[in-house]
Amino acid sequence: MRVVDLIERKRDGKELAGGEIRDLVLAYTRSEVPDYQMSALLMAIFFKGMSESETVALTEAMVESGEVIDLSLRGISAVDKHSTGGVGDKVSIVLGPIVAACGVPFAKMSGRGLGHTGGTLDKLESIPGFCIEMTEENFVRQVADTGIAIISQTPSLVPADARLYGLRDVTGTVNETSLIAASIMSKKIAAGAAAILLDIKVGSGAFMRNVVDARSLAEVMKNLGKRAGCEVVCELTDMDQPLGYAVGNSLEVREAVETLRGSGPSDLTEIVTESAVHLLGLSSLNLKEAEARECVEKVLRNGDAYAMYEKWVLAQGGDPNTDRLPKAEITKEVTTLCSGYVVHLDAKKIGMEAVRLGAGRAKKQDTIDHSTGVVCVCKRADFVNKGDVLAIVHARTVDQANQAINAVRSAYEIDRDPPNSVPLSLGRVV
Ligand code: URA
Repeated sequence: MRVVDLIERKRDGKELAGGEIRDLVLAYTRSEVPDYQMSALLMAIFFKGMSESETVALTEAMVESGEVIDLSLRGISAVDKHSTGGVGDKVSIVLGPIVAACGVPFAKMSGRGLGHTGGTLDKLESIPGFCIEMTEENFVRQVADTGIAIISQTPSLVPADARLYGLRDVTGTVNETSLIAASIMSKKIAAGAAAILLDIKVGSGAFMRNVVDARSLAEVMKNLGKRAGCEVVCELTDMDQPLGYAVGNSLEVREAVETLRGSGPSDLTEIVTESAVHLLGLSSLNLKEAEARECVEKVLRNGDAYAMYEKWVLAQGGDPNTDRLPKAEITKEVTTLCSGYVVHLDAKKIGMEAVRLGAGRAKKQDTIDHSTGVVCVCKRADFVNKGDVLAIVHARTVDQANQAINAVRSAYEIDRDPPNSVPLSLGRVV
């Protein structure tokens, strides 16, 4: 295989053979292909795209680059969930315990925050003592014994993605449908779940800015999952404004726990309930929609979902008491300078401000402050009077808080007339 031939063929819009893609990915993972050639090929793919069979070959080669967890060997039929990333997205921390409390094992490998979007691992690490690193053997054991585990990606699973993603991140080639689909689905397939719910975020705070692009990503990912023998459902959900109120690690864990106790924000409660209903339908329990909804509402009402959260957090070494979550030294209110309806709340701006306050990383090696962030007290369609509190900034220092106030205020657009309503669910691909 001459890599330059593959680069030239893709550059000219021609299709690569499955075997060529496999050999290339495996050779790159063994460091036998230099980054500069892989970068050139990624850029050619970025402009010319990949056919369905090329995307399948890429995904299969990425799975083959490492180990694969077979949960079924332990008789476990687990479910998994993946979000393409958003602002205030703490769904996994609520959904996992609900599904597990309903009797369906939840096995998930998560990621860290990326740009303005938060990551489940960073949120979980704000829980004192919570350990996100675990061997594959212990991961499988915890899923079997506790019913739920959420850990970081282990290095032996899909090593090709770790290398390729790092390269895409610095070569402007992240945002291409086939590359995103292969990256996400190879990790999901290797992690061994029998059924997967994919939450594809759409809007200013998401990778996918419109429903058409989100739907085509959903189709590609669903087909990749089905070919690998997984049940897959894709939900398209709004990410024009943050999900829930809290943005920032410990702030989000607190909100997730409130939701598990039945007093969470309505949008978060809705998305978690619908996701749980889908997963119970796809799972080996194979519940009908009405039965699944009844089960989800019951575990939220009777405390079983929260009890499962406590059991899970303790199993991973954490302290489930929310009073022990880190709290920011300084909190400052952001008030409105005019009256009217909130017609837009820019998720990306809020996410960026949370990063600047220390809740995310500007560079990969940055450490984060788990206590900081923004709580959006008002959301789209709320009416505010001049002087009302729009949001609360949680910061390390007074200077930092003061700097954030104007930026957070500018994320709110206020007008005399109410906005058109935007549903949380923008469609489904099954
Ligand atoms: N998340 C991933 O894991 N991979 C991508 O390519 C994009 C988002």
